[in-house]
Amino acid sequence: MNRYSLDDVPDRRIVDRLRALIAHERSTDAEVLAHIGEVDARKLYLPAACSTMHGYCVQVLHLSEDAAWKRIAAARAARRFPAMFDAVAEGRLHLSGVVMLAPHLTDANVAMLIDQATHRSKAEIAVLIARHAPGRDVPARVERMHDQLGLAAGASPPGQTSGPSGPGQTSGASAPGRTAGDAGAKRAGVRPLAPERFALQLTVDQTTHDKLVRAQAMLRHQVPSGDLAKVLDRALDALLDTLERSKRAKTDVPRAPVARRSTGKGRHVPNHVVRAVFERDGERCTFIGDGGRRCEERGFLELDHVEPVARGGEATVEGIRVLCRSHNQHEAERLLGAELVGARRDAARAATAARALEQDVLAGLRRLGVTLPDARRAIAGSAGRPAASDEERMRQALLALGDVYGTRCAEGARPTLASRCRESTPRWTIEPDRRAGPEVRATAGRRSRACCSSTSSSAASCAGRAASGSSRPDP
Ligand SMILES: [Zn+2]
Repeated sequence: MNRYSLDDVPDRRIVDRLRALIAHERSTDAEVLAHIGEVDARKLYLPAACSTMHGYCVQVLHLSEDAAWKRIAAARAARRFPAMFDAVAEGRLHLSGVVMLAPHLTDANVAMLIDQATHRSKAEIAVLIARHAPGRDVPARVERMHDQLGLAAGASPPGQTSGPSGPGQTSGASAPGRTAGDAGAKRAGVRPLAPERFALQLTVDQTTHDKLVRAQAMLRHQVPSGDLAKVLDRALDALLDTLERSKRAKTDVPRAPVARRSTGKGRHVPNHVVRAVFERDGERCTFIGDGGRRCEERGFLELDHVEPVARGGEATVEGIRVLCRSHNQHEAERLLGAELVGARRDAARAATAARALEQDVLAGLRRLGVTLPDARRAIAGSAGRPAASDEERMRQALLALGDVYGTRCAEGARPTLASRCRESTPRWTIEPDRRAGPEVRATAGRRSRACCSSTSSSAASCAGRAASGSSRPDP
């Protein structure tokens, strides 16, 4: 007997049974969310050779991409606001509603919003959210579709006709004057059309469009039709060649391993090892998970020492492997402990942030007209001073710059700026611009002046003003 054949079941029983099944499904949904949330939080997808929770849901649980995304988003929201679990289990809120509400929930409004969204459709919840958090009007916009037409049809050389339309070419169906929400609003993506044929759709900005037109024009001798698919193919060839050289150490003339670096000691991985390892591992993560499954990740790849450097691991072809970022971190935590790896990661992030801030301050000083060596001395001189914010860091660098200039003048050196000052023993000070207030960061060149103290009394006669970088006359 086919259990799915319900021909003989009375109407009343079918309806009751359906309601019971739906209730059971909702209860199960809440349980599934709780389990997905826990697997996600514990990163249990990593031992299963998946680099992300989404990958685990798709590759191991065999959910569709959309179903996986929705359940992960709902699970994360429900872990933040556990009342969501009950709302889902009791059928008051569907998963789409949970995902829609999630960005707008706070501890203060979660009960109220769940109550108002109970048994509401997606459209009704959208109205509820719009009422709760009104968005701005969508600006009217007209797309310049005629440019795309020009790009696709191309200006074929006189006497020649365009070749057959390729997948990347637009048809004449696009009319000028279309508003946002039409073709431009469609998501970029690649869609299979037929065996070995794909439709590629994307929206580009003016700069990219101009590059494409220029490449199309420069390739007219090789691609007279201007076929975008062929132009794109050549562009990708050029890009991949560059990427393979920079990220895979590929070269037309491989050099013999340098003795100094081929010893394999330290963290440096020689180019010949990089090439051999990526070729051996097939440019794919080599992590093998439970059950012998290999991670499928081909992005965010990193080279990893099989044996940590601290334990004598060497950068040889046998001692290096390809891992995705998630599994590289997973392996590091397994070998060294999560606490140590976390501390190292935090330290690396802090160092990166400090370097970025230093570059920001350096650029600010350069905009003031400070020479590169002096700017570096000022940054070095202010490195130990406490600075609670980016603005304070810039202020400290400016004060240190005063010390740099003062030292130069007192020592009788011939610094670029001080030597032009008419004062025999000028002193350099940093003065906040009284008209603009003390703010100096980023716009320091306009709002702050680094100048000789003599300029305060005789601004017009002192060339030290050149250091101010200001286009306005001194007060
Ligand atoms: Zn992996």
